[in-house]
Amino acid sequence: MRDTAKFGTSDKRGRERTSSDPYLSEGSMKEPAICRSCHAVYIHKRWQIDPASSATMISRPDIHMTVCPACQKTAENYPEGILTLRGDYFQAHEKEIRNILENEENRVYAKNPLSRIMSMTQKNGQVVIETTDAKLAERLGRTLQKAHSGELQIDWSGDPVICRATWERSV
Ligand SMILES: [Zn+2]
Repeated sequence: MRDTAKFGTSDKRGRERTSSDPYLSEGSMKEPAICRSCHAVYIHKRWQIDPASSATMISRPDIHMTVCPACQKTAENYPEGILTLRGDYFQAHEKEIRNILENEENRVYAKNPLSRIMSMTQKNGQVVIETTDAKLAERLGRTLQKAHSGELQIDWSGDPVICRATWERSV
């Protein structure tokens, strides 16, 4: 999980009623650009993560410094996916489960650097994982179910659409 400082809040949900991601501005992004927070690079109309190219890009005179949509969502606490883990089984297998989720996140992140776990918090005996990308929450839930069985419920709703997945296993 990446550690990003949280600052400021704004209500992007109330801004416009569209089904599209309010953080992806179409056509207005100047390139090449680099995210000052995670160093993802925006080039050829897509965000990419590659430490070698970030190091070269950052010294280019025409580079635009910006904050990528994933870092904006994290900073403003705007998750598009929420995976909740419930049941005593988690406590007994916490380390294993965290590893599975982190490995899967890394696999997804390598292909799409805007798809990340924003936060993982434990309260009232359950774990809540927030993701910048809705599909990631579903994917993590399915990966966990494949490896550890349990019950998985997935709900896509809202506008913009948010994926709420709940995985539960008691014994
Ligand atoms: Zn970023």
